[in-house]
Amino acid sequence: MKRCLDCGAESAGDQCPSCGLTSAAAEVMFRRKLVRRTAVFLLGSLTFPYVSQIYPPLDLDLMLVFFGLIFFGALALAVILERRARNRRQIEVLKHVYYGFVPLPWILAATLFANGRLDSQKNVLFHPTTVEGRFNMKGIVRGSRRLLVRSWRAGQPVERLAVDADDFDRFREGDSVVVGVEPGALGIPWYYGVYRR
Ligand SMILES: [Zn+2]
Repeated sequence: MKRCLDCGAESAGDQCPSCGLTSAAAEVMFRRKLVRRTAVFLLGSLTFPYVSQIYPPLDLDLMLVFFGLIFFGALALAVILERRARNRRQIEVLKHVYYGFVPLPWILAATLFANGRLDSQKNVLFHPTTVEGRFNMKGIVRGSRRLLVRSWRAGQPVERLAVDADDFDRFREGDSVVVGVEPGALGIPWYYGVYRR
């Protein structure tokens, strides 16, 4: 018994009894779906890093690493799926795993956006600290500027604040600053602003 590449129904012959497609036609249909869903995934993958800088979480870099794993994992799956479909091999399980990955960047982006957007300015907490370093990495999406300050959280030596270009240029190592942090409507603390003390 083989399974139809498009609808997944079992069939003994070349034509699927459920959707009526031949194995060649089912392969074409599946490829189209794969391309469409991959486009949705890639668009979300561009949106997530962008949105993550609007209300940047304190642990943004950790999230970006996590996101990078999702990104490359999903792309590897897409490549494997394409190959297996071409060779008419079983794809049922992998297909569903991949489809599960597709909305993830959008869900992550929406979570971070809601977390900051639904937060109230009244909740900002200010932490006095000092600048310990600066880090600028040119990137595809607005680049990554980080102001490293001594952390106020237990077990965490530094905070890597995702600052904008102005704040990045304004501060130097050793500056005394106050960092505004919002608790996050969904419980993800995010960086609100940095001010001279
Ligand atoms: Zn079918």
